[in-house]
Amino acid sequence: MKAAEVFTPEVCKAVEESIHQAELRTSGEIRLYVEDRCPEDVLDRAAHLFETLKMHATAQRNGVLIYLAVADRQFAIIGDVGINTKVPTGFWDSVKDEMLAEFRKGDLPSGIRAVISAAGEKLATHFPRGTNDCDELPNNVVVA
Ligand code: CA
Ligand code: CA
Repeated sequence: MKAAEVFTPEVCKAVEESIHQAELRTSGEIRLYVEDRCPEDVLDRAAHLFETLKMHATAQRNGVLIYLAVADRQFAIIGDVGINTKVPTGFWDSVKDEMLAEFRKGDLPSGIRAVISAAGEKLATHFPRGTNDCDELPNNVVVA
């Protein structure tokens, strides 16, 4: 299965809307990056892309990258330092478990949307959305 086959423009639009909805609850900024294969260790890959996408450019350093390699079934979720200093260890574990369960069901897009919504909910506790919130990072899905 290829990333572009699963994440069609229509699906990407739906995911983008999920990100928009999630960001209405939190100042955290969520992005999704999908590709076919993961060329290195999945966490190294996610960290590398975090840099490339300039996701540290948020005021509260609370960007979150969800990374998915469709063909390899590799998945990672990483947050910026602002999140890591505020949240307990294992903060993302339940989100990860949810994703893996959806993987097994085979419906990646709805799994991803569930993960985005769960991430938004968790982030809202530590990073509620302020009155002057702006969209610091674009919500569009990157399909490589
Ligand atoms: Ca925002
Ligand atoms: Ca955003």
